[in-house]
Amino acid sequence: MRSHYCGQLNETLVDDQVTLCGWVHRRRDHGGVIFLDMRDRDGIAQVVVDPDTEEAFATADRARNEYVLRITGRVRPRPQGTENPNMPTGMIEVLAKQVEVLNSAATPPFQLDEHGKVGEEVRLKHRYIDLRRPEMIDKLRLRSRISHNVRAYLENQGFLDIETPILTRATPEGARDYLVPSRTHAGSFFALPQSPQLFKQLLMVSGFDRYYQIAKCFRDEDLRADRQPEFTQIDLEASFVEEDDIMGITESMIRGLFQEVLDVELPSFPRMPYSEAMSRFGSDKPDLRIPLELTDVDDLMAKVDFKVFSGPATAADGRVAALKVPGGAELSRKAIDEYTKFVGIYGAKGLAWIKVNERAKGLEGLQSPIVKFMENVIDDLLERLDAQDGDIIFFGADKARVVNEALGALRVKLGEDLDLYTQDWAPLWVVDFPMFEADDAGRLHALHHPFTAPSCSPDALKAEPASALSRAYDMVLNGTELGGGSIRIHDQAMQRTVFEVLGIGEAEAEEKFGFLLDALKYGAPPHGGLAFGLDRLVMLMTGAKTIREVIAFPKTQSASCLMTDAPGEVSPEQLKELNIRLRQKAKPETAGE
Ligand code: ASP
Repeated sequence: MRSHYCGQLNETLVDDQVTLCGWVHRRRDHGGVIFLDMRDRDGIAQVVVDPDTEEAFATADRARNEYVLRITGRVRPRPQGTENPNMPTGMIEVLAKQVEVLNSAATPPFQLDEHGKVGEEVRLKHRYIDLRRPEMIDKLRLRSRISHNVRAYLENQGFLDIETPILTRATPEGARDYLVPSRTHAGSFFALPQSPQLFKQLLMVSGFDRYYQIAKCFRDEDLRADRQPEFTQIDLEASFVEEDDIMGITESMIRGLFQEVLDVELPSFPRMPYSEAMSRFGSDKPDLRIPLELTDVDDLMAKVDFKVFSGPATAADGRVAALKVPGGAELSRKAIDEYTKFVGIYGAKGLAWIKVNERAKGLEGLQSPIVKFMENVIDDLLERLDAQDGDIIFFGADKARVVNEALGALRVKLGEDLDLYTQDWAPLWVVDFPMFEADDAGRLHALHHPFTAPSCSPDALKAEPASALSRAYDMVLNGTELGGGSIRIHDQAMQRTVFEVLGIGEAEAEEKFGFLLDALKYGAPPHGGLAFGLDRLVMLMTGAKTIREVIAFPKTQSASCLMTDAPGEVSPEQLKELNIRLRQKAKPETAGE
């Protein structure tokens, strides 16, 4: 129906006849001449409809925003002085000969260039209109280029694209499962995969050697953060590999991707042990663009007569850390109060601080509600932090977990608020993760997933599970975990040991993972892999603020789709077929209990 996309028109086509199909982005009446900005996925072109072409003029006259038109006309240079250098098609326009209405459009719920005036809910409810916005099209186009680039790279490296089931059994990655009732097996349920983890491992047992898939994963989590219940992974696995192989392959993949798609040369990827990341940055995904660090001061604070500090400083699971912000002495009382509230979100009970106004003046030169409690250690403290005039020092004193989370988040927030970034991109690998983490009741959970290989023997693992390290690695970029993976357990005895440490009894292990345990005894090769979160990767590469902006049809924070109204109720007949009887319908606020 068309000869060119609107956005493709330029000076080389002057005097050519073209046919465009698209939407009326804007229509202006200028003293008897009608201007139509015609839009399609490639851009916008200006069309002029002259009253001389009577029929075309009459049609253009009744066209409204978002009407779908087909226009044939001649490309000509814009009259001198009316060129628009900010638009790719800004040097030319199309003088229309024929205008045909392919479809009319009701007044849209929001004008595309006024999308900021309506809430995100309106945009999500009418997502097909929201997706007409050039910025949205650009993001999804970049997403398509990213997946294309990744596929090409992996295919070149000998990875085979193999699909794995969506209706399956639980594949634990630490979230709740989405369940699907089976009609043919009354009372039984499929689980949607939290990742293709077990299937990709089984493909290694089969000998495929290198697998990849751009795979949908499903995790029923409380959507506090910027997460989606269904999201996409670039998932891969390879046999006869060690950490360096997988890290090497995926690092070149990401490097090439940034080079080809964004023309960005990423700096080198340093490797940092998990323990160092936690101690210096309070996070296992540190944003290394920000030049602030946490400093341990437990030994000093153990000596002060101030319970709030000396308590955590001497407790086994406590930590007292300082965060020095150069130039931060200028922060107002109000700003500090805001930061105090902010760390409260992470469970910190307060935010102690010292402003270093004039260090040479000793205590006189310091301003702080708490310095009176630490006169005996203040010199050592300032020395250790290399405090300079104009600095502010913040403190966290609590359980190590709370201090890390609170000061880690404060560090990132200060970096953003004070624009402290030293570089555009800061990638790194975090390695040497602990195998397990303990919950408040002391129960151990796999930090990655229970199929991750430990870096010790089964006996050592059993003897000291809490201090065992795993062969896992995470790729982090600008404070976001881009992907994570590990070398896997390929030995049945080791897998049984891990289940045992996790408190998964033999019967339960057989019931849930019997197929894996079986497979491990039929010649499983050493193998490992990694999965990237595609949505997050695209978000970083497009500069989007949320992952919803880079997903065509995302769900809301409460895991629903405003456009289709999913999840929805089903008919009593359907429930009966599935052998399901609902308990009294839950009230919205208690739903999920
Ligand atoms: N399956 C893991 C995940 O989804 C990634 C991996 O270990 O390859 O986090």
